Amino acid sequence: MIKVKKRKVLLLPGDGIGPEVTTEVKKVINWFNDKKSLDFEIDEDLVGGSSFDKHGTPLTDEVFYKALESAVIMLGAVGGPKWDGVEFSKKPERALLKLRKELKLFANLRPAICFEQLVNASTLKPEIVSGLDILIVRELTGGVYFGEPRGIKPIENGERKGVNTHTYTSSEIIRVARIAFDLARKRSNRVISCEKSNVMEAGQLWKEEVQSLHDKEYKDVELSHMLADNCAMQLVRNPKQFDVILTDNLFGDMLSDEASMLTGSLGLLPSASLGAKNKDGEMRAMYEPIHGSAPDIAGKGVANPIASILSFAMALRYSLDLDKEAEALEKAVQEALNDGLRTKDIMSDKMKEVSTSQMGDAIISKLQ
Ligand code: NAD
Repeated sequence: MIKVKKRKVLLLPGDGIGPEVTTEVKKVINWFNDKKSLDFEIDEDLVGGSSFDKHGTPLTDEVFYKALESAVIMLGAVGGPKWDGVEFSKKPERALLKLRKELKLFANLRPAICFEQLVNASTLKPEIVSGLDILIVRELTGGVYFGEPRGIKPIENGERKGVNTHTYTSSEIIRVARIAFDLARKRSNRVISCEKSNVMEAGQLWKEEVQSLHDKEYKDVELSHMLADNCAMQLVRNPKQFDVILTDNLFGDMLSDEASMLTGSLGLLPSASLGAKNKDGEMRAMYEPIHGSAPDIAGKGVANPIASILSFAMALRYSLDLDKEAEALEKAVQEALNDGLRTKDIMSDKMKEVSTSQMGDAIISKLQ
């Protein structure tokens, strides 16, 4: 059993804008090391398409073992059109799925927060999104993306049949629900659990297990259930009704993308994927912006590094128990925005456009 090294941070910049935004995270980590003596041990390696180009695989065994012993993995982004023709098992995105599955990172946390300074960047009316603060807790290692049987096979009449299986066990549901309830207690104490219990047995089990855990251990948290399609609709109708949304892998994939767009830009939103704590209290976790490798702007120095920097703030809070430092970093981001600094994706009238590295530097200067 490989032990987790307490302060080890593995940087996996990946492809496209991944390396550009991860460079800014590295600057932030170095700042904490220099100024606060936080002794993070940084390692850096290839993942995704860049790993495939060099090693013929999107995730080498060596990098996988480094991931196993790291308390925090900071991922940039993987993928891009360059690897479209690569066989399925070697695609850059397979590295992510393997890391999530093998490290048992079963809970994906995605905050969707509307920054007051950027309220006009949303496609929704300011009064609908102003003050928005939702946390989506998505189950990440079960459900239809992993269920067996799966595949494409020929059938009798010359047709082909594609099969994926949506499956959940009680324990898979309970462990992720527990995370949602625990986090709700630190927020507004409300959980809305989403499934399709009207048409899916796995959804019915989801609803029953969440309710039963609530009744046994979390009676103080307000719980309600919502069908996932209704949740998709309510997110654009009245998103501020939500505090914590708990949902499965498939619905969480879609609902969290929808929620992220309420806030205006993909470049602002962080995420965390957490595993279970072992008996020594150690936990593996991976942090990454929700955006992809943005091949359309890669190499131009215009990518917004805020989502990646806020992902590191989540790492400080959830993996390293450094709440004060996490708050300081989040505040530094707010202050850089208050100064009117904007990367191209969030640029508006009378603001000052800055590059990826200028935004990183400005955030660090606010930490001082
Ligand atoms: P994307 O998130 O990369 O880009 C969507 C749009 O948002 C683009 O116009 C892009 O320029 C913009 N954008 C994204 N991040 C930005 C940032 N930080 N600053 C400014 N603008 C930003 O999504 P896509 O284009 O659908 O996917 C591109 C590649 O990324 C694909 O290969 C996809 O598979 C991969 N992808 C990877 C991850 C991941 O690594 N976790 C997630 C999603 C997509």
